Amino acid sequence: MKDVKVLFTEEQIQTRIKELAKEMNRFYNGEEIYAVCVLKGAVMFAVDLVKYLEMPLKMEFIRLSSYNGGTKSSGRVNAVDISLPDLNGKNVLIIEDIVDTGLTAKFLLDFLNNNFHTKSTKFCSLLDKKITRVNDIEPDYYGFEVGDQFLIGYGLDDDGYYRNLRFIGYKNV
Ligand code: 5GP
Repeated sequence: MKDVKVLFTEEQIQTRIKELAKEMNRFYNGEEIYAVCVLKGAVMFAVDLVKYLEMPLKMEFIRLSSYNGGTKSSGRVNAVDISLPDLNGKNVLIIEDIVDTGLTAKFLLDFLNNNFHTKSTKFCSLLDKKITRVNDIEPDYYGFEVGDQFLIGYGLDDDGYYRNLRFIGYKNV
């Protein structure tokens, strides 16, 4: 991958995931959770994170999209598939790849609020692009803060490619 510069190595990512899982294990203290993975970007993060979670856990997958194949958020969130089981009274942990404008996170949190009375709802994102936020969304857990740069790898794509990289980086153009 000569055209891609590494920002976070596989080792850095895995170390941070274990730290996040430790915090979550402490917080949930053995209570059952529903881990909701937001496809497609969060797939790598979600599957790695849940391996270190020690409570009874069910995984759910929903699919949203806000990018139009370009590298800037479209400002609109599409619910491609948001079918979820009954989450009333459940602990819900949303797992995202990156919070950018915050519109996707807000859409999801509003959706959960409007449809369920959960026991708790926590939002976890591997990456937090605080600088581009247009609302007051703050993830409860995040792996790394990043700048205003289009990132790829470890689930994050560029036109569908690069999701399979074990590290996170950016195109060296
Ligand atoms: P938001 O709604 O917060 O603006 O955007 C959230 C979604 O935009 C993320 O789930 C992700 O799919 C996409 N996104 C935001 N920043 C990046 C980036 O740097 N790289 C890639 N590949 N996707 C991004």
